[in-house]
Amino acid sequence: MKKNLKLGGNPGRDELILQERCANPWNGECNNTNIVLYIYFKGSKLPICRACWNKIAEMDVEWGEEFA
Ligand SMILES: [Zn+2]
Repeated sequence: MKKNLKLGGNPGRDELILQERCANPWNGECNNTNIVLYIYFKGSKLPICRACWNKIAEMDVEWGEEFA
């Protein structure tokens, strides 16, 4: 009796699923996928793309308890 086991699924498809889109809370329309880092904002972990991070870095944001 043959056993037909498939392990690991489809790596190519998994990569697409793992690709995240920017969720910059200050720009709800940004859907870039070149994520460079994550920020914690109001309890949520949000992926941020390179372009948005450059803007956020220029903002006068207090990186205090609000982001914890
Ligand atoms: Zn973005």
